[in-house]
Amino acid sequence: MTATILVVEDEPAIQELISYSLRQAGYVVFCAEDAEQAMSVVNEALPALVLLDWMLPGMSGVEFARVLRRAARTKTIPIIMLTARAEEIDKIAGLEIGADDYITKPFSPRELIARIKAVLRRRLPEISDDMIEIGGLKLVPSTHRITVNDQEVALGPTEFRLLHFLMSHSERVHTRSQLLDGVWGDHVFVEDRTVDVHIRRLRKALEIVAKDDLIQTVRGSGYRLSDAR
Ligand code: CA
Repeated sequence: MTATILVVEDEPAIQELISYSLRQAGYVVFCAEDAEQAMSVVNEALPALVLLDWMLPGMSGVEFARVLRRAARTKTIPIIMLTARAEEIDKIAGLEIGADDYITKPFSPRELIARIKAVLRRRLPEISDDMIEIGGLKLVPSTHRITVNDQEVALGPTEFRLLHFLMSHSERVHTRSQLLDGVWGDHVFVEDRTVDVHIRRLRKALEIVAKDDLIQTVRGSGYRLSDAR
């Protein structure tokens, strides 16, 4: 899955360098030069991660990070702060704005990408390309293949994303609305019932390889993928 990254940086040269490097690395990039522009991007659709410069004209990056952390819709969005000096990192960390990482300028594109990958892997494992294997069920994101003992399981795109999400967060119970946010994406207005329909299809496909019991219904809460019987 392609991750969308919002770059909030007022210096054109740096903004260009960052967005070029990110696009080269396969990310979809949106740019904003201040908090106001950044907010309108976020209001359109939630990015997977925000790269946020501390020193911005108008509202500072630190203040914008606080705004994101306060709102229910954006409070868990991964944020990497960009700062001009190393001392600023201590200051930001001291402010406890809840950024996931901090990078000091100047930085190499390679370092930036490595930090982004690390944050995304930790915070959004469902968009990582790492192979996952649970209870004999193997999922390879890069090729969209699901196999059990080399036998392929055919799944539609939504069931694939649903299974990828559940396998990336196994053992955890997800409510229907959490699954809608994580699988269908932010700002998609579909009914909770839709989740049940796709869970049913997913189970049916997994039944063929006798793995449908990996998807468990947790009464009154939602669904969980678990290897434990
Ligand atoms: Ca700046």
